Amino acid sequence: MTRQYGIIGHPLAHSLSPLVHNWGFSRFGIDGHYEACDTPPEALSAFMARFRQIPMAGLSVTIPHKTAVMAYADAVTDLGLEVGAVNTLYWRGNVLWAENTDVEGFCRPLVEAGLSVGAALVLGCGGAARAVVVGLKRLGASRIAVTGRTREKAEALAGAFDLEVVDWEARADYPAQLCVNATPMGMLGRLEALSPYPSERLGPGQAVYDLVYNPRLTRFAAEAGHAGATVVSGLDMFVYQAVEQFRLWTGRVLPAEELRPLLMQALYGEALARG
Ligand code: NAP
Repeated sequence: MTRQYGIIGHPLAHSLSPLVHNWGFSRFGIDGHYEACDTPPEALSAFMARFRQIPMAGLSVTIPHKTAVMAYADAVTDLGLEVGAVNTLYWRGNVLWAENTDVEGFCRPLVEAGLSVGAALVLGCGGAARAVVVGLKRLGASRIAVTGRTREKAEALAGAFDLEVVDWEARADYPAQLCVNATPMGMLGRLEALSPYPSERLGPGQAVYDLVYNPRLTRFAAEAGHAGATVVSGLDMFVYQAVEQFRLWTGRVLPAEELRPLLMQALYGEALARG
């Protein structure tokens, strides 16, 4: 019987996850099907009851359910507890586990780029920033600071993870070797013209990691590249969090070098065709 998988979130308009995982099932000849299940908060409880009743074989979880869904799992991994949010549900025997694969997704591109993480500045203090901070700790960052336009939120994140807090207006004064954009600034649409960091403070010997991957080259990434900094793409974070989900569900490893062009075509197809 076809094994059912899906993603819950709200709104879920342009999720790339069905493309990734359905491609993975056909790539490995697995009888599985993955679909987007737009689920507003008030429908989470009923969805999870159906999930167990069917039962579905696995689930991706996105905003706004990443913390709330933990209560519906039988067990949460240590990593999920550390972050305080999960994005993946999977079965081991009769036990439904909740895991956070965003941390692995964030770390892998840095490891593959051979970047050693020194002093790191996290721009933004929402849900993604939590996974970034846990990832930076795992990678042995020498110092981690967080900054955000809402000072109280930055202080709350810093308090939870024992980080330095930097005033948003003074963010360029922090001696960051790695700057991570965990805000939506630069995202396609009304925020596209924005960068979270002044480009005159970027140069060789620094690295930037932009979690925003649409457009293909954000203003932040473009300016960092021009300044001679190393640029790490948020698309790779998306790729590796999905690779890790698929591995938890099937034991198979999706080849990132095949997945990346598939996603690039889906995201930037027209732009790629135009060169
Ligand atoms: P979130 O929980 O809504 O947090 C967003 C953060 O950005 C908050 O600190 C928010 O500040 C700040 N922010 C929003 N608009 C801003 C603006 N115009 N100027 C300055 N700061 C602003 O979102 P999230 O889940 O952490 O996601 C953050 C970004 O990462 C999104 O663009 C998301 O698409 C991306 N992301 C990418 C991946 C990937 O795989 N590459 C994974 C997860 C997330 P306030 O709280 O003060 O509003």
